[in-house]
Amino acid sequence: MRAAVLEQQRSVEESPLSLRDVAMPEPGANQVRIKVSCCGLCHTDLHTVEGDIPAHKLPVIPGHQIVGVVDRLSAGAAKFAIGQRVGVPWLHRTDQTCEFCRRGLENLCEHAQFTGYDADGGYAEYCVVDEDYAYPIHDQFSDENAAPLLCAGIIGYRSFRLSGAKSGDRIGLYGFGASAHIVIQFARHLGCEVLVFTRSDEHRKLASELGATWTGRAEDTPSKPLDAAIIFAPAGALVPEALRVTRKGGVVALAGITMSQIPAMNYDLLYHERVLRSVANSTRQDAREFLELAAAVPIRTEVQTYELAEVNRALQDLKHSRIRAAGVVRI
Ligand SMILES: [Zn+2]
Ligand SMILES: [Zn+2]
Repeated sequence: MRAAVLEQQRSVEESPLSLRDVAMPEPGANQVRIKVSCCGLCHTDLHTVEGDIPAHKLPVIPGHQIVGVVDRLSAGAAKFAIGQRVGVPWLHRTDQTCEFCRRGLENLCEHAQFTGYDADGGYAEYCVVDEDYAYPIHDQFSDENAAPLLCAGIIGYRSFRLSGAKSGDRIGLYGFGASAHIVIQFARHLGCEVLVFTRSDEHRKLASELGATWTGRAEDTPSKPLDAAIIFAPAGALVPEALRVTRKGGVVALAGITMSQIPAMNYDLLYHERVLRSVANSTRQDAREFLELAAAVPIRTEVQTYELAEVNRALQDLKHSRIRAAGVVRI
């Protein structure tokens, strides 16, 4: 099968993913094989490829917002039928025995494996996954429109949940890429007012089209404080900016897997019970809840597509914010 393979972590400007023929994966116990239709681009792919996070497996096929159809079942796999459309997100496998899994926090599992990082992912014609870590995709979404739901959407949903935002609240989104353009849609559906902070004129325009009541840059100050904020951009300098405009007792959630250094800041920014918290991965429950919510809203993802042969250019575009909303690679 054809796959985009990472041998060595390098800057995306050096086109580190090479397209080659590799052995077709065979599903192991309780696994299904998926004929991949498309796979969404995520900032975590960029961090995996460029080495912002250490490699767990090399060579590796990245990609963890996979949409395709089940084409082979192993013995014991009974959840899906051949030909059924499924999605595969970042959470690839957990042990279900560690203290975090036992607390219902499988997103923090001591032995978690992640798609396109610990196990080969979706920038390939086929991939395999445990059937318990794949999800049916509602008919109303095209393959391409469904792909960004699988990480941008699910992580966005967990971030929103952990921000504590509820109906009637004012929530600020920092950075307006794949995840934020999904969050704004369900946050409004759930009765929140959404404010968007981004450097990009293009992203501010899209945010306004999607119903943001205010858009500006991180250093701007909206007329009333935020009840909650989510920072999607991996820039530590945004942390004091978000705390500065968040009310007493409000939560600032950090959605990224990595971030540049957070600058030293005055305790006043945090005092009065403001909460600063990170968001790590997601649980299967998050995935199930979010995919239901996405269909109910319904979420309309805006995608920019690339062919598999263009995957390096796609990652370069993602790195330099040249993608209007969500990037998707067609296999
Ligand atoms: Zn565990
Ligand atoms: Zn991701």
